[in-house]
This record gives sequence, C-alpha cells and structure tokens, in this order.
Amino acid sequence: NKKVNILGFDFLNSSFNNFMDGLKERINQRQNTFVVTANPEIVVAALNDNQYAETIKKADYLVPDGVGIVMGANILGSDMSERITGYDVLLDLLAWGNQNHKSAYFLGAKPEVIADLKTIIPQKYPDLSVAGYHDGYFNDSDEIAAEIAQNKPDMVFVALGFPKQEYFIEKYRQQNDGLWIGLGGSFDVLSG
Ligand code: UDP
Repeated sequence: NKKVNILGFDFLNSSFNNFMDGLKERINQRQNTFVVTANPEIVVAALNDNQYAETIKKADYLVPDGVGIVMGANILGSDMSERITGYDVLLDLLAWGNQNHKSAYFLGAKPEVIADLKTIIPQKYPDLSVAGYHDGYFNDSDEIAAEIAQNKPDMVFVALGFPKQEYFIEKYRQQNDGLWIGLGGSFDVLSG
C-alpha cells in the first residue's frame, strides 16, 4: 500500500475503489481492522493532542476525508488524487453488505437519527443483517461494547464524532474481529 506522510501521519494513497477492494477482502476474512477517515480538523486536533495522535497512528488505514488532505499531499509531491470520505465508504459498504449478507452494528448520533435509521436501513438494505443500533449518547460504553461483541458484526459503524469515535474503537476493537470505522456525522446525512 502506497503511503504519504503528512505532518507525521501516514495516509493511504489509493483510489477509492482500490481501497474498498482491500477493505472488503479484510472484512471477508474477519480481520480486525481500524479505519480513520481524517479531514484537516482531525490532523490539527492530533497535532495538538499527543494521546489522540497515538490513537490515530494505530489505525490500519488512515484515509483522506477532505480535499485539504489531498491538496496537502500534492504539495508534498504525492500523486494522491481523490478523497475517501467516511460517508462514501459507508454507502458502499451498506450496498455491498446487502448483496453479500454481511452484518453491521450502528453506533452514534442522536436518538431521533437512530430511530430514522431503524426505518431506512431495512427498507434500502433488506438483506443486510443488523447486529444492533445504539445512539451516541450513553453512559456505559462497556455495556455497548459487550453488546457488539455478543452479536459479532462484520462491520461496526461508529459515528460519535472525533475524537470520541477513535477512542471508543481503540478501547474496544479487540472484542470483535471485523471492521471498526469512525464516521463522524454520516448517520445524520444518511437519515436526511
Ligand atoms: N455524537 C454522538 N455522541 C456524542 C457527540 C456527538 O453520537 O457524544 C454524534 C453527533 O450526534 C453527530 C456526530 O457525532 O451525529 C458528530 O458529527 P460532526 O459532523 O459534528 O463530527 P465530525 O464529522 O466533524 O467528526
């Protein structure tokens, strides 16, 4: 995998389609995978917070969500050509998961957004197996992690915003072998 180092962070330099192919192979093999979709705000936050920087560096894939990252890479001489946004990854995985009967857990966003997803997901993706839903406003994260572990989803979509989502994933990813990806405000967009 080609990488480009931006301010100390190794970003994947790949087309969207190539990245998705590799990711789906890992999901098929139930490989434990942590994806960070980073925009410039995330990089700035990590530059100002050593703990967050260390967390992000543990990702299996750090991908450029944000044209600012692609432009930065190009200034550094990289041929990086496109963004890989969390929302696009989510939509692609939902369609693929539906076709291939994969399972997914949805964690994050406000209760009313999760209520909308409970209607929208089965309508649009009837063959996707839903391992569970939980809004992003909770007290006991251990309890949610236990529910995820019990249901063994192929994919865990974590839309708590940064840095919360990355800290949650770092803490609990070993409890379920599959994909864990931070998706920011993507559930809000999906629910319309
Ligand atoms: N959120 C959440 N729990 C929290 C704080 C935020 O689930 O404790 C959700 C919020 O409802 C929204 C998302 O996380 O859906 C954050 O979206 P935003 O676009 O602000 O974050 P970014 O994409 O910049 O990470």
